Amino acid sequence: MAHEQLVFCSDKETGLKAIVAIHNTVLGPAMGGTRLWNYATEEEAINDALRLSRGMTFKNAIAGLNIGGGKAVIIGEVKKIKNEALMRRFGKFIDGLGGRYWTAEDVNMSTQDMEYIRMETRYVAGIPEAKGGSGDPSPVTAYGVFCGIKSCLNKVYGSDSLEGKKIMVQGAGNVGSYLIEQLVKEHAEVFVSDIFEEKLKKITDRFKVQVVAPTDVYDRDVDIYAPCALGATLNDQTIPKLKCRIVAGGANNQLADEFRHAKMLKDRGILYAPDFLINGGGIINVYFEQQGNYQRDKVYQKAGDIYKLNTDVINLAERNDITTHEAALEIALKRIEDFANLK
Ligand code: NAD
Repeated sequence: MAHEQLVFCSDKETGLKAIVAIHNTVLGPAMGGTRLWNYATEEEAINDALRLSRGMTFKNAIAGLNIGGGKAVIIGEVKKIKNEALMRRFGKFIDGLGGRYWTAEDVNMSTQDMEYIRMETRYVAGIPEAKGGSGDPSPVTAYGVFCGIKSCLNKVYGSDSLEGKKIMVQGAGNVGSYLIEQLVKEHAEVFVSDIFEEKLKKITDRFKVQVVAPTDVYDRDVDIYAPCALGATLNDQTIPKLKCRIVAGGANNQLADEFRHAKMLKDRGILYAPDFLINGGGIINVYFEQQGNYQRDKVYQKAGDIYKLNTDVINLAERNDITTHEAALEIALKRIEDFANLK
């Protein structure tokens, strides 16, 4: 599936250099956050925008949302370039796309930035709750991940109870900490790892969990490994070390090489919950805002559907002897194709 449109935005006065990638708009306007990153080259920024926007197409499609896939990147060092003028200029560029692309937060972008963008365009979501927006998406993302974990447990152990199950949560950030809260409530035995002491302290002050050094995450004897930090943690070095039966977490792009590493996990008998399916709670949250009908209970209901969707993916993978990653892509693609035929 090829990309539909790639837009370069450049403004001398504010120093703005941005790229908007629209991958697919069959299901609706393209939607995905803006990432601000100090890319070494323009080519690197283009590749990231292309890769991330494609990912959004599948994430949005499998979640059952009527939006397509898109993503924007702003090139530069956050501390040097971020200000109101640059954000508003960026907003003007988005407005110029006439609603083909809607933005929201991603790495290094805040709800305050969304407010600046909103001054110039209505094609933005992720506004603070106090201003009538959907606010921080992390609790909803964590809830979707939690539902994905439970559906995996049901498949592997015949019950979705977390009681006494050992789970390694990598990353005690926004998603990781909300996830830990739910896991502890259901009496799971939680292990946590982070590279920052203060993040760990925030968790150990609130919950009875065991801290694990970042280097000891992969060979820990646990039932579930939940990556909630960086991408590409499932790779040639880590997969052979894993002792868990389930991998299910919130991080984006967990598989270093999506098809090869999904197959490696399958061959090792480890059930992998596709990241773009179970971390869809965040986009579900902004989607309801984008639709102009934000209702928190409806948002959680939709995020709760991740349990069944993940079960469907696992069953399809089993039936066709394919990986869960391939099965999830197949379901997402089919939804887009069915819709394209309807149109
Ligand atoms: P965050 O920055 O709040 O948390 C990430 C945490 O991981 C930080 O505490 C960081 O110190 C830690 N970390 C970094 N490297 C580590 C390592 N090697 N070992 C252990 N910990 C490490 O980010 P977040 O919003 O919680 O997002 C976490 C992941 O989930 C990201 O991959 C993000 O793209 C993805 N995601 C987030 C959302 C959301 O709603 N926030 C939605 C979808 C996907």
